[in-house]
Amino acid sequence: MAEFTGVDFLHLDELLSDEEKLARDTVREFVSKEFLPLIREHVRQDGSFPMHLVPELGALGLFGTNLHGYGCAGMNNVAYGLVMQELERGDSGLRSFASVQGSLVMFPIHSYGSDAQKERWLPPLAAGNAIGCFGLTEPNAGSHVAGMLTKAVRKGDGWVLNGSKYWITNGSLADVSIVWAKTEEGVQGFLVERDRKGFEARDIKGKFSLRASVTSELVLQDVELPDENRLPGVQGLRGPLSCLNQARYGIAWGAVGAAMACYDEALQYTRERAVQGGPLAGKQLTQERLVAMLTEITKAQLLVLRLGRMKDEGNLHHAMVSMAKRNNVNAALEIARAARDLLGANGIVDDYQAMRHMVNLETVRTYEGTHDIHTLILGEHITGIRAL
Ligand SMILES: Cc1cc2nc3c(=O)[nH]c(=O)nc-3n(C[C@H](O)[C@H](O)[C@H](O)COP(=O)(O)OP(=O)(O)OC[C@H]3O[C@@H](n4cnc5c(N)ncnc54)[C@H](O)[C@@H]3O)c2cc1C
Repeated sequence: MAEFTGVDFLHLDELLSDEEKLARDTVREFVSKEFLPLIREHVRQDGSFPMHLVPELGALGLFGTNLHGYGCAGMNNVAYGLVMQELERGDSGLRSFASVQGSLVMFPIHSYGSDAQKERWLPPLAAGNAIGCFGLTEPNAGSHVAGMLTKAVRKGDGWVLNGSKYWITNGSLADVSIVWAKTEEGVQGFLVERDRKGFEARDIKGKFSLRASVTSELVLQDVELPDENRLPGVQGLRGPLSCLNQARYGIAWGAVGAAMACYDEALQYTRERAVQGGPLAGKQLTQERLVAMLTEITKAQLLVLRLGRMKDEGNLHHAMVSMAKRNNVNAALEIARAARDLLGANGIVDDYQAMRHMVNLETVRTYEGTHDIHTLILGEHITGIRAL
């Protein structure tokens, strides 16, 4: 395959600053040279991630890219989005790793943590010397977050946590888990270190999707924590939902990366694949599909670029993020399916990327608010009537 050079039909590069383009190009090169040569082996091993790259990802500023201080890169939200795009051009598992670390672990510590929590955790998390995970979902509470059963009860000056969290990215790798639990004062976030008595992380095996990513169950049985492990700056569902909003923003960009990888592969493949005396790309049906892919990618790029500028201005509404996550992930999934189809039988083997992206995107459609949940968020926003 020829080197990936991006997809930019509307010359959107002209709307990017030099710093934004540098961030994107640096990650693009890293993904091409360091990550893509490894991905096939990690996908073949169920639930494995190239852990030796983690400090390098940290050194490149890819954890908490849009956060300031504590060793974070402090870039704007468009640069952050472009970073997510390029990581997911590699694999959704790679982008998930960075999303969880940055948006779901570092963001809540940065926004709601005490000074001591920030000093303790943000520098090593930014550098990739510590790993975090975000425990919100439970076996019986996914979309319906308020149905969580995990509880934190006061005991003396501290807390006792009981419950379990399911489908937790990087759960067994994490040095610190952000666990959301019900308390008498509403839902609160707790920092649970991996060696706390009563805490256990068990990996979930047998995934068809996000295979190059570790997914775990967290079990909390009478886990005792001091009050200094509680995030003091937030109470109620606003805490976890604000984190999800950060991550969803990155996912909307990331989906563009996965879509670009599939389009690029389908374009190159169909140009070279001979059918009935000419290239597959010369057939009208093929061209119709390639045109549809390019059009959807371009629309998705415009959506996230506008979103990024609004986020930097502080004018972003969460319903806008829902629209972008919903649209871009769905578009990427359709593009991956079409690319897989255009590759014919070759499309089902792991010499090619389209099917890997396709199955990954099934997870991306489900996590961080399912496609349906974002429909209902937008539906409520435009009608004023809550259907969720
Ligand atoms: C690989 C992977 C990694 C993940 N990583 C994390 C993580 O790091 N941390 C974490 O906390 N969670 C994580 N999750 C969990 C993820 O966020 C949940 O799977 C997601 O929120 C959906 O919940 P659920 O699976 O229980 O599905 P459900 O909520 O049971 O939904 C099932 C179906 O019902 C639909 N549905 C649900 N409610 C309604 C409604 N009111 N009206 C209409 N339709 C509805 C949904 O759209 C969906 O189609 C991960 C999941 C996966 C697969």
